Amino acid sequence: MRMTRTYIITGSASGIGEATAQKLKSLGQKVIGVDIHKADVVADLSTHQGRIDAAKKTIELSKNSIDAVIACAGLAYPTAATVQVNYFGVTEFVTELLPTLTQSKTPRVVITSSVASIMPNSTELVDAMLANDEAKAVEIAQALVDAGGGGEQLIYGSTKRAISRWIRQQCLKPQWAAAGIPINAVGPAIVKTPMVDQLIKTAEERDGLSKLVPMPLNGFMEPETVASLLIWLTGVNNTHVTGQTIYIDGGFERIVRGEDVWSWHQ
Ligand code: NAD
Repeated sequence: MRMTRTYIITGSASGIGEATAQKLKSLGQKVIGVDIHKADVVADLSTHQGRIDAAKKTIELSKNSIDAVIACAGLAYPTAATVQVNYFGVTEFVTELLPTLTQSKTPRVVITSSVASIMPNSTELVDAMLANDEAKAVEIAQALVDAGGGGEQLIYGSTKRAISRWIRQQCLKPQWAAAGIPINAVGPAIVKTPMVDQLIKTAEERDGLSKLVPMPLNGFMEPETVASLLIWLTGVNNTHVTGQTIYIDGGFERIVRGEDVWSWHQ
């Protein structure tokens, strides 16, 4: 007999989070959606209080039974709010759920990073996030915005670099590895969701984005494609994949990083 699992999905009102929630529900799983609107738990993950309140309500609604967290809420704007949602809106919320998650027999976590994690970023901003210094990270991001001249375009990639590094920082710690919790990320290239729809309204814009983020294998993808990978990574069959960012990108990561990703060690 198959057991029903309880999945917490942030960003469940749109795009990848919505597609994942629908797919899991169609498989008979229990889903608690968290979003700033249209969700079981309506919460603003950009603030400390919003994350604490969201975690409390989520745990209550789950009746203290959480098997997996799938963190999809995110912003792609070149603003300081992107740091608050994409990094701290994940790390603080997930950490708050950890004691409840640990009680599951098969606990799992996955986060949506991005191919932007391997694109240009601000080392100073990434370091502030990894140091868990939200005030400093916001200050650095705001300074990039105020300075203009394109530096603000580093903010999104920096949040995704930091989140992909955070899972590696965390995954071996006793509260994760010894507790039997795989924690991973996915790194999509271009997914046809409201986040990118606004950028590809014309054929010219679509062409421009394809040149910026080439995807030789099958081109732009549907959110359901990413949902399938998120569901596998948080399913009971994932017993040993941890600390990874799985690029789901039609070959873009291969183009950027080249064939040899092993030469860091001779
Ligand atoms: P989307 O805009 O369709 O959905 C994002 C969701 O996050 C929305 O429902 C939104 O309301 C929610 N959200 C935003 N701010 C919030 C806040 N403060 N509190 C609570 N919820 C909030 O975007 P998407 O394309 O589905 O993106 C999902 C994730 O995947 C994001 O982290 C994004 O960075 C990442 N991603 C997307 C793409 C892409 O091409 N679409 C590529 C790589 C990575």
